[in-house]
Amino acid sequence: MALLTAENVCFSYDKKGDVIKNVTLEVNEGEYIAVIGHNGSGKSTLAKLFNALLKPDEGTVTVDGFSSSDKKNLYEIRKRVGVVFQNPDNQLIASIVEDDVAFGPENLGVKREEIKERIDFALKAVGMEKYLKSTPSRLSGGQKQRIAIAGVLALKPKILVLDESTAMLDPQGRKEVLEVVKNLNKEQNVTVITITHYMEEVVDADRVYVIDGGKIEATGTPAEIFKDRALLERTGLELPLAAKIADKLISRGVPLKDGILTREQLAEALCAL
Ligand code: ADP
Repeated sequence: MALLTAENVCFSYDKKGDVIKNVTLEVNEGEYIAVIGHNGSGKSTLAKLFNALLKPDEGTVTVDGFSSSDKKNLYEIRKRVGVVFQNPDNQLIASIVEDDVAFGPENLGVKREEIKERIDFALKAVGMEKYLKSTPSRLSGGQKQRIAIAGVLALKPKILVLDESTAMLDPQGRKEVLEVVKNLNKEQNVTVITITHYMEEVVDADRVYVIDGGKIEATGTPAEIFKDRALLERTGLELPLAAKIADKLISRGVPLKDGILTREQLAEALCAL
């Protein structure tokens, strides 16, 4: 059974026109899903529909069997779907890391002993266990965002939604956060939905949804999506950098195979020549 489904979901902010138009999608337990689309295509709105911050005008969003259209399910849904937003500074509230991570479970009424366990688990999962007593404002962007992820993990969500969570980070911070998220998916079986405009972050996903003008334009593996150049052009998306370089080299006669998406694949193919 799918862990999260959207069925014929429509949503508008001000009744002037739908921002989300008849979206139907499924996310299975343990999947790593990327949602891509250019600015204003509806990605963030979708993220908020996933954790019931917004409610569909039409259609249903169901998480682990709980429909977000029923008010009494909101608590169950928000327990299961944790969202990490773009700006780490807006997500950290306490002046000590451990208090920040404890904030969510404290609000859920989790017992003191268990909160301690959850803080340890969450900080370890993001590789920040040494920073238990640190001041968040003194940390780097990547470290802050890892603390924000720990705060969400302390709620033990089944689904982690990353809404452009690496957009404000430098390349090192992006790498740190990506590694943590990939690890959580592989080692802890956390289902991941990442919303991003960095195509490099899409290549590791199990499946991709392309959204354009509030509609699902396509779904497939990263290889399938990036092979469809007409789709990319139509939806204003770019190729990952390694794929762009490979394309250029092929057009200049370098005999590389099709379908190169990552730096590693490109390096391997070049070395093989
Ligand atoms: P994306 O995340 O893909 O950039 P959004 O979901 O943020 O797209 O926005 C989709 C559309 O909804 C845009 O046209 C945007 O201007 C509009 N929108 C987003 N948030 C609001 C809001 N709070 N009130 C009114 N319109 C909004």
